[in-house]
Amino acid sequence: MPEDTIPCNRCGCPNEDNNYKCVACGAVIHEASVVPPSRDIANHLALAILAAIFCCLPFGIVAIVYAAQVNAQQARGDIAGAQRASGEAWRWIRVSLVAAILPYLIVAIYVAMLISVRH
Ligand SMILES: [Zn+2]
Repeated sequence: MPEDTIPCNRCGCPNEDNNYKCVACGAVIHEASVVPPSRDIANHLALAILAAIFCCLPFGIVAIVYAAQVNAQQARGDIAGAQRASGEAWRWIRVSLVAAILPYLIVAIYVAMLISVRH
């Protein structure tokens, strides 16, 4: 499978793309996999916007505010702050999900009770 091979930076020998080191000379192929996790912090922005539109607007907006803070904190180099904001964004996405589902759940329970009373 020639499409799945990449040339080694040091010796040019073809390696499988999922190889960590070159099979011929042992040079590290995937530098990206040892990069510090500075850009691995999920901002959940897309989910937060979806939560605001489809679930619960007030909680979704709180999630969007925190999601926006993730990138801002990260740009300032505050990784701990970015991770905290990421966690808060995720928490408010879940809150808005629950807030969106809860009314349906209550209606479903109410309907189930009505049906069980009739029979
Ligand atoms: Zn090599």
